[in-house]
Amino acid sequence: MKKLIIIFTVLLTACNSNTNTMISTKIFPKGEPLSKDWFTGNAFLEPLIARDKNNEFSAGSVTFEPGARTNWHTHPKGQVLLVIDGQGLYQEKGKASQLIKKGDVVNIPEDVEHWHGAAAETKMVHIAITNFKDDTQVTWLNPVTDEEYKSANKN
Ligand code: MN
Repeated sequence: MKKLIIIFTVLLTACNSNTNTMISTKIFPKGEPLSKDWFTGNAFLEPLIARDKNNEFSAGSVTFEPGARTNWHTHPKGQVLLVIDGQGLYQEKGKASQLIKKGDVVNIPEDVEHWHGAAAETKMVHIAITNFKDDTQVTWLNPVTDEEYKSANKN
């Protein structure tokens, strides 16, 4: 009985340490590395839902390690981001960057130039739900320069 109580106490202690806000809870696998052609730093994609006869979108879990981000880009029919872990940044061209964190939802309109990614010191994981227009989901543009990224991290 004493042994059981000790085990129970250890378990409780372990659970309590989970209240630390920096503890990360992985929901989906990290997936495979994304192309350096369209991403800076280390970003990964785990596909979740492919376009099919009912769904004119695809969905995937994207993991950005600290410093990683998309290129600037647009979506012809918009995109929804559901942040499921960490803290990162979202920025529309000509506007201040926004801090996005676990639990945030970003509804990106069609044809708005933007980027998303981790912050310099924190990773970020989001589900991306991206609509199709004909066969196009995204138009890739220039990389987010180190200067643009540094400036975005100061907001
Ligand atoms: Mn996007």
